[in-house]
Amino acid sequence: MQQIETVCVYCGASSGHDAEFARFASAFGTACARRGLGVVFGGAAVGLMGRVAEGALGAGGRAVGVVPRFMEEAEFPAAGLTELVVVESLHARKQKMFELADGFVALPGGLGTLEEAFEIITWRQLGLHDKPIVLASCGDYWKPLVALLDHVVATGFARRDVAGLYAVAESVEEVFERLSA
Ligand code: AMP
Repeated sequence: MQQIETVCVYCGASSGHDAEFARFASAFGTACARRGLGVVFGGAAVGLMGRVAEGALGAGGRAVGVVPRFMEEAEFPAAGLTELVVVESLHARKQKMFELADGFVALPGGLGTLEEAFEIITWRQLGLHDKPIVLASCGDYWKPLVALLDHVVATGFARRDVAGLYAVAESVEEVFERLSA
C-alpha cells in the first residue's frame, strides 16, 4: 500500500450538539501533526473544520485548505493555514482534495460531508482510485449510515464487497490503524 503523507478530512462546517465532536476533531488534527501527516480540508474556520485545523497547526503540522471562490466569505479561512487553495467550484474542490491526499477520513458532519464521503466511496467502487477511506465515528455517529449501506446490500442494490470500500473507526488511534491497514 502507498505510504500516507497527506490525509483528506471531510467534516462539518458545524460542531454538532455534543462537545465531544469538537474534541475529537481537534485531537484528530493534533494526532495527524504528531505523526507527520499533512491535512487537506475545506479550509474553513467554522465548525469541526476549524477544530481540525487548530489541532493540526497548533501541534506544528500542515493544514491545506481548498475553498471555492464563491464560498470564501461564507466559510472564511482558518487562521495560519499552510496554504489556501482557491478553486472555482465545489466539483473542483473535491477533485483538488482528492489529488492532494493519499487517504480520506470522514469525521461527523452534515450534508456536505455526506456528499463528499459518498463520492469518494463511489469513486473507489468504480476503480478510479484505491486510497483508504475511514469513517471516523466518534461514538455512534456513522452507525445509521453503515446500517443504510448494509440495507442497500441486503436489498440487492450493491454487492457484498461494498463494505470493503471503507473502514469504520471509533477512536482517533483506530483511524490511523484503519488508514494503514
Ligand atoms: P457540512 O457537512 O454540510 O457542514 O459541509 C461540510 C463542507 O462541505 C462545507 O465546507 C460545505 O461547504 C461543503 N460542501 C457542501 N456541499 C458540497 C459539495 N457538493 N461538494 C463539495 N463540498 C461541499
